[in-house]
Amino acid sequence: MSDCLFCRIVRGEIPATKVYEDDQILAFKDIAPKAPVHILVIPKQHIATLSDVRSEDSAVLGHLLAVTPRIAGEQGCSDGFRSIINTGRVGGQEVYHLHLHILGGDTPLPAMLKY
Ligand code: 5GP
Ligand code: ZN
Repeated sequence: MSDCLFCRIVRGEIPATKVYEDDQILAFKDIAPKAPVHILVIPKQHIATLSDVRSEDSAVLGHLLAVTPRIAGEQGCSDGFRSIINTGRVGGQEVYHLHLHILGGDTPLPAMLKY
């Protein structure tokens, strides 16, 4: 997806503050943080949403989840964090390249949802 914002970050065409990278995934600071620690973790391959995941994507997504606590810890989440994947219109997804938000800091986050 040549015009996808996060694919462009993967290719280095748009700057981002990277905090972790390997051959399968990339993590970088959110441009508009919603908590003292706010990191986005993405697969390098373009997957639009969690609803688009295929069985052959299981390994990369398993790897993404497995590395997430390490990234969170290295970014200062020493006593827990929240991870969120917004999916589609109802989920409030704004960027259609699958990403996991890591949110945290020193103090407990507010209640997850109110409606
Ligand atoms: P979503 O609502 O799709 O789950 O979250 C998209 C996130 O991407 C938002 O938290 C937003 O602040 C972040 N974001 C949007 N554009 C950029 C960008 O160009 N660079 C970075 N680092 N984050 C971005
Ligand atoms: Zn993409």
